[in-house]
Amino acid sequence: APQGEVLLRVKGLSKSFKGVLALSGVDVEVRRGEILGLLGPNGSGKSTFINVVSGHYTPTSGHIEFEGRSLNGLPAHRIAGSGIARTYQIPRPFAHLSVLQNVAIATMFGGAVRDPLDAQRQAMRWLEFTGLEAKRDARPEDLNLHQRKFLELARALASRPRLVLLDEVLCGLTPGEIDDAVALIRRIREQGSTIVFVEHVMRAVMALTDRIVVFNHGELLAEGAARDVMQRPEVMSAYLGK
Ligand code: ADP
Ligand code: MG
Repeated sequence: APQGEVLLRVKGLSKSFKGVLALSGVDVEVRRGEILGLLGPNGSGKSTFINVVSGHYTPTSGHIEFEGRSLNGLPAHRIAGSGIARTYQIPRPFAHLSVLQNVAIATMFGGAVRDPLDAQRQAMRWLEFTGLEAKRDARPEDLNLHQRKFLELARALASRPRLVLLDEVLCGLTPGEIDDAVALIRRIREQGSTIVFVEHVMRAVMALTDRIVVFNHGELLAEGAARDVMQRPEVMSAYLGK
């Protein structure tokens, strides 16, 4: 596992929804350059973690630091502008825009690109990176699931994030599509992003992650190398719902 500097430091993070404690005092550190897998049974708080770190939800308590700076209290668009991008478990493209326009708009989110023509050129690069260049003029609704997921990735990458939060991007894909997506996620890391990756597809978790953390009932249950952690009795029982 990478021994580099801590990119994201989350301490004592809690989030409750009207009495439901979705996250309860979670501590997680993510090092620059690593792929961290975030696992746990349904309802264990994985999406909530991503929603809080990306500023879509306000934490009930706890601290979030990115590149040494506090993210507490920053709205989602400021967090996106400071170098963190995320995907949604259910893709959310702009339905009335073309595939290319969807990515072009995303290049302008981080504030790095201002000129619309430049945005289109960069968007084309991200469509090539994700293999969607032939779909540039299609509408998101005309894409299949695999293409919609890759569009979601292209949009996340377009803001040139240092940290990418991926929420179940492989869910529903065929085995061949999963192989493509695993290769793509490797290339995302190679081009310089650190990745936190919520995933149930174990083959992909084993192939990609340097380290995993497992949540259960909103708490951090275990962390370490995937092959070790997944064999621990407490982790197996959590998955069996005991
Ligand atoms: P996971 O992604 O691990 O399946 P979630 O983070 O989506 O789990 O959910 C954790 C818990 O928080 C669940 O009990 C869920 O019902 C609850 N929860 C998540 N989001 C909301 C919300 N917006 N309003 C109310 N409860 C929520
Ligand atoms: Mg989820």
